[in-house]
Amino acid sequence: MPTFTVFKGSEGGKIVQSQTTRPDLTDDQVLIKITASGLCGTDEHYKGADIVLGHEGAGVVEQTGPNVKSLKKGDRVGWGYEHNSCGTCEYCLTGREQYCSEREMYGEANLDQGSFATHAVWKEAWLYRIPDSMTDAEAAPLMCGGATVFNALSSYDIKSTDRVGVMGVGGLGHLAIQFAAKKGLRRHRLLWIRQQERGGTQARRKRIRRNEGKERVRYWPQGGRSSRHHQRAAGLETHAPCHGPYQHNLSAHRLLR
Ligand SMILES: [Zn+2]
Ligand SMILES: [Zn+2]
Repeated sequence: MPTFTVFKGSEGGKIVQSQTTRPDLTDDQVLIKITASGLCGTDEHYKGADIVLGHEGAGVVEQTGPNVKSLKKGDRVGWGYEHNSCGTCEYCLTGREQYCSEREMYGEANLDQGSFATHAVWKEAWLYRIPDSMTDAEAAPLMCGGATVFNALSSYDIKSTDRVGVMGVGGLGHLAIQFAAKKGLRRHRLLWIRQQERGGTQARRKRIRRNEGKERVRYWPQGGRSSRHHQRAAGLETHAPCHGPYQHNLSAHRLLR
């Protein structure tokens, strides 16, 4: 039975070390030795809960269950927010398994394991091979943050002739800008909008504008208008909120390389 070290949230927000023991591998389960993990904003939300943190991981296959078909020991793989779904409902059959009523996700299922750990056990179908050209540390953040914004761009079939606005340049936003650029969107078609920092001085904002290019950066005040308002103000036709990225992890990798 695999036993491994994990790092969990706790009441009060302190991260604590613990141990998880899983039954011997069955069916299509894969034991992974974790080598890298992204740190996502959602981890902050779960820091006060008794669950293993981390949901964008990368590592090396250490052991495989009897029905694992394509992965073998030594393969490099990554995984994201969702770990399982029914595989037979309309959502699952149309590539939208993030809406499956039987989905298993970070924070709801598998609370005893995550990517802040030495190992994890996941099903083969929910693991994605990492290309040789990409390091584990590069791949891990794409498993949630990267896949989320990639999904927004691919769901709306964004082309180089479209105009795209990215609201917020944080962990997800800076990846959205890179994906959009790789899709061929150039300067006048790619607009990113940064939330005005509280206490940010006029001089600081001027400096950012100078560095990032005046026409690509707009600001909106904190706690004010909705992102839909800013979408209209920026002259953007469609509002594409980021949600449900999970089926696009692998394609996201390919685009960034
Ligand atoms: Zn995340
Ligand atoms: Zn389903």
